[in-house]
Amino acid sequence: MNDKELTVLAVDDNPDDLHLYQRYLEEAEGLNANLICADSAESALKVMEDNEIDVVLLDYQLGAEDGLSLLKQLMENAKGRSPAVIMVTGRGDEKIAVQALKSGAVDYIPKSDITADSLRLAIGRALESLDERKEAEQEKQQLEQLARFDALTNIPNRRSFMEDLLQEIDRASRYQRPLSLVMADLDNFKAINDKYGHITGDEVLSRFAMILKHTLRDIDVAGRLGGEEFCVFLPETDLDGAAIIAERIRDRAADEVYSGQEGEKFNVTCSIGVAALSRSDSDTKSISDEELRSLLYQEADRALYHAKAEGRNCVRAGIHVNANPQD
Ligand code: GH3
Ligand code: MG
Ligand code: MG
Repeated sequence: MNDKELTVLAVDDNPDDLHLYQRYLEEAEGLNANLICADSAESALKVMEDNEIDVVLLDYQLGAEDGLSLLKQLMENAKGRSPAVIMVTGRGDEKIAVQALKSGAVDYIPKSDITADSLRLAIGRALESLDERKEAEQEKQQLEQLARFDALTNIPNRRSFMEDLLQEIDRASRYQRPLSLVMADLDNFKAINDKYGHITGDEVLSRFAMILKHTLRDIDVAGRLGGEEFCVFLPETDLDGAAIIAERIRDRAADEVYSGQEGEKFNVTCSIGVAALSRSDSDTKSISDEELRSLLYQEADRALYHAKAEGRNCVRAGIHVNANPQD
């Protein structure tokens, strides 16, 4: 921590104490700290907005204001990049110290104990626990990523796709926006596996996911439902629009050339079913988003079934699924 320049924010309504912090930080050996002072909760929040703060020294007794509520606000505003907050308490304020730690402070220090040395140590400890907190946060994000994405194709798995679809259905039906669902299944994939082996089969699956990604807009979401079955939802796209995109996916998939382990070239086609929500005149939903999702899914699945039955390597569009069937 010695080499890195730190930005410390001291929040205290007593100018003498702020001067003291300034002096201690200058005296603290090996600490390369730049101090910003704030004399109220309001100015502290403003400083936090405009600066990247590593450590906050936060006085519990902020005049009429309460350091704890400022602490909670700081933690809320900071979200992922929260600074290490050290609560400065009065002597015997252990209860407050406990509350501060619960609310996200990494340490507390009684004001009467502050010296250049104790401040240096407290800042050192605070930064260490901040690092630990960041590591734990990263680990959590990695686990969430693992739980949401399919390991082979790196696109959302069924569970995550279905959750996102539900959210999109909520948005689309609330604002009466178009939304469609495209369901694609690789043709005769079992035979591909049998002929070229499972590893080559896996390669086909990940390349197919890449084709989906490259064919779609940023707001479209593709997921792997399982096996060789994929799904895409297309916000702001009606049935006709989705059928055009589906045809583009089918075309690109059919053009992709794969190589077996002995260099033999082959293609893999896919069949696609499309369905869409219909726009409704009424904004009162008569069926739930979950039911709407099931209907949309069933309709795309039925269209896919027809595409398979009608010879594969083709797109079939289903019907509009209505949020207000009585309309
Ligand atoms: P259809 O055209 O009717 O869809 O026929 P199909 O052979 O594609 O369909 P079927 O459902 O009979 O076979 C799907 C195959 O997909 C069987 C299974 O071994 C293979 N498969 C499922 N998941 C994976 C995977 O992760 N990797 C590989 N390589 N193959 C997989
Ligand atoms: Mg298949
Ligand atoms: Mg299948």
